[in-house]
Amino acid sequence: MAFVQHPFRLTGKKSLTADVFELTFDSDSAPAPKPGQYILFHLPSGLKRAYSISYSSDIQFSEYGTMPDGSSYYDAQSVGNRFHFIIKRMPFEASGSAEICDSEIGAEILGMGPLGHFVLTEGDIPRLFVGTGTGFAPLYYQIRSLEDRKFSAKTEFAFGVRNVADLFYQEEFERLSASYPHFSFAQYLSQDSLEGTKTGYVTDCLTPEYVSQFREFYVCGSPVMVKSVRETLAKLGIEKECVKFEQY
Ligand SMILES: Cc1cc2nc3c(=O)[nH]c(=O)nc-3n(C[C@H](O)[C@H](O)[C@H](O)COP(=O)(O)OP(=O)(O)OC[C@H]3O[C@@H](n4cnc5c(N)ncnc54)[C@H](O)[C@@H]3O)c2cc1C
Repeated sequence: MAFVQHPFRLTGKKSLTADVFELTFDSDSAPAPKPGQYILFHLPSGLKRAYSISYSSDIQFSEYGTMPDGSSYYDAQSVGNRFHFIIKRMPFEASGSAEICDSEIGAEILGMGPLGHFVLTEGDIPRLFVGTGTGFAPLYYQIRSLEDRKFSAKTEFAFGVRNVADLFYQEEFERLSASYPHFSFAQYLSQDSLEGTKTGYVTDCLTPEYVSQFREFYVCGSPVMVKSVRETLAKLGIEKECVKFEQY
C-alpha cells in the first residue's frame, strides 16, 4: 500500500519565517501516517522530494454530485487524512522545495507513502528529542502524539536554529509546555542571542548528567548535527538501538 501514489491537494500555506513554510495537503486515499514518517512527492517537474509529516489528522470530505440541470447536490461524506509539512524553500527556481512551496492552493500533487522507519517505540519512557531547522517537523509530530496519548514520562526537546529570525512555532512551544506537564524545551541559537533561549549548539545539552535522565533519543536535522549527537551519545555509553535518527 505504501508504494502506491496518492493525490494530495494543497489546502493551506502559511509562511513561518522568510524561507520556511507550513503546507497543508488533504488526501482521501493516503493512509494515516505514524509520527516520524514522510511523503515522497512526485512533483509536476518530475523531481521527487521527501518531506516529513509535521502533524496529521483525519478529516471528512463532502462529496457532491451534479444534477442533469447542472445544479449540485450533496452526495456523501468520506474520510481522509490531512497532512501538515514544514518545508524550507531553497532560493533557486529549479529546486523541488521552491516548486512545492510556490504551488497554488488547490494544486494536486502525487505522493507516495507514508514511508519511513523513523518512528516512536511504544513504551511510556523518558525521551529526548534533538532537532535543527526543518528537522523540527517529524520530532514535533512525535511529541504531539505523546501528548495526545497522555504519556507521562519525561519528554524534552532541544531545538536549534541559527538566528532569532529562524525561530518558528513559538506559541506552540508555549502551548505544549502549558498543557503537557511532562514536556519541556530549550531553544538554541548558534549565531544570535535572545532572552529565554541559549546561545550555542543543540549538542551543548548533551552532558552526562542530562543524558542519563533519558532512555531513548530521537534526532533529526543536518547530517553534521546528527553525526555529532550520535557520536556524543555513543561516548556517553548510550546503546545505538536507543538512538533513532533522520538526516536531511
Ligand atoms: C526522509 C526525508 C525527509 C525530509 N523532510 C524534510 C522536511 O520536513 N522539510 C524540508 O524542508 N526538507 C526535508 N527533506 C529534504 C528535502 O527532501 C529536499 O532535499 C530539500 O527540500 C532540498 O531539495 P530541493 O529540490 O529544494 O534542493 P536541491 O535542488 O536538491 O538542492 C540541494 C542543495 O544543492 C545546492 N544547490 C542546488 N541548486 C543550486 C544553485 N542553483 N546554486 C547553489 N546551490 C545549489 C544547495 O546547496 C542545496 O542545499 C527531507 C529529506 C528526506 C530524505
